[in-house]
Amino acid sequence: MISFWEKDTFTHYNLIVIGSGIVGLTTAIEYKEKHPNNRVLIVEKGTLPSGASTKNAGFACFGSLTEICDDLESMPKEEVISIVEKRFKGLKNLRNKLGDNALDFQQLGGYELITEEQTHYVNRMEEINEMLYPIFNDNVFSDRSEDIDTFGFNKEKVQKLLFNKYEGQIHTGKMMSALLKIVRQLDIEIITGTEIEEFYDLGDRVVCSSYNNRKKIDFYADKCCICVNAFTQQLLPQLEVIPGRGQVLITHPISNLPFKGTFHMDRGYYYFRNYGDRILIGGGRHLDYKGETTTELKTTKPIIENLISILNETILPDIPYKVDMKWAGIMAFGDKKMPIIKLLSDRIAIGVRMGGMGVAIGSQVGNELAQIISALEYQD
Ligand SMILES: Cc1cc2nc3c(=O)[nH]c(=O)nc-3n(C[C@H](O)[C@H](O)[C@H](O)COP(=O)(O)OP(=O)(O)OC[C@H]3O[C@@H](n4cnc5c(N)ncnc54)[C@H](O)[C@@H]3O)c2cc1C
Repeated sequence: MISFWEKDTFTHYNLIVIGSGIVGLTTAIEYKEKHPNNRVLIVEKGTLPSGASTKNAGFACFGSLTEICDDLESMPKEEVISIVEKRFKGLKNLRNKLGDNALDFQQLGGYELITEEQTHYVNRMEEINEMLYPIFNDNVFSDRSEDIDTFGFNKEKVQKLLFNKYEGQIHTGKMMSALLKIVRQLDIEIITGTEIEEFYDLGDRVVCSSYNNRKKIDFYADKCCICVNAFTQQLLPQLEVIPGRGQVLITHPISNLPFKGTFHMDRGYYYFRNYGDRILIGGGRHLDYKGETTTELKTTKPIIENLISILNETILPDIPYKVDMKWAGIMAFGDKKMPIIKLLSDRIAIGVRMGGMGVAIGSQVGNELAQIISALEYQD
């Protein structure tokens, strides 16, 4: 049961954004900047943002050589180029909006470890550099195999090392904290611990309903944006958005860690980076696609053991380390790599399916979504 005062004060908005990940926060910010007098509410089901945006690896990247070659097998060349461009522009956008200090952005470069079976990809480096030249005005990938020794990788496992000087890394928590700071500065309202279970376009407004403790609360707004990424099917089962769990672990600080940067392996299926003197490593979802098609937030023994064996055998064969923490986050995939950004009705828009690239494209998607929803006009 709610009071007249609660109903009058907390249930009517100009825009409701469902989900407080990078896409939801950016959408709310961009919209409020365009419409400072509008009331904007973000509704988040977790106590903290509970999606991928606070659980990711913090790679500011746009595709390794083997990932891009792999994409060319299943997508038209123009689409592959367009995704790289979206990621590159999205990162610029994020850095401009929040500033490198707030993000703890460090352009330490990105590397890719190439095994013996993958050396054929290296033969395509010139072709891919040419393909991406219009975006970077530069050759993106170069051979840095001389660093394999310096970095201490197992030479039997790593035949070549490729370098991309444009890649960087961020502190994921600081990014989200900086976005939340702007949300507060702009007087955007945010309610956490509240799951929206259904929403309807009523023709003259939108209603979003939550059933906390079995008590229904209806929030009304002129417009609504759905930014729930991997949890889309719970609200819209007909949309092609498939959850995919990503598992990660981080070590305690390692003395004399011989490398810094972001590192990719095996077409993007594994990745690791330094955070200070620690290593964060993740991936391995392809080892159990079926089991990892889930929204359950937990790590599993086989995948964590696989990540540890890669650390032991390939990355740190001679250096002792201890695991500090492990965790999981949920991404969203589909038959296409491109995100879904579209209107669902005259008052409701959606921006979901960021794959493993939401740090890069999330702010750009939020931008686009805010433009789409801003362009909607109604007659009173
Ligand atoms: C382990 C891991 C590593 C990754 N590494 C990288 C990386 O290095 N670089 C990169 O670019 N990308 C990376 N990603 C992907 C990136 O994190 C995501 O693409 C991005 O965060 C998605 O942002 P989002 O705002 O769309 O969704 P999310 O961050 O998932 O936000 C959706 C929010 O909606 C909320 N929500 C869901 N349903 C409801 C509901 N019904 N009512 C209210 N709230 C709801 C959720 O609680 C969540 O907070 C990684 C992802 C994972 C899991």
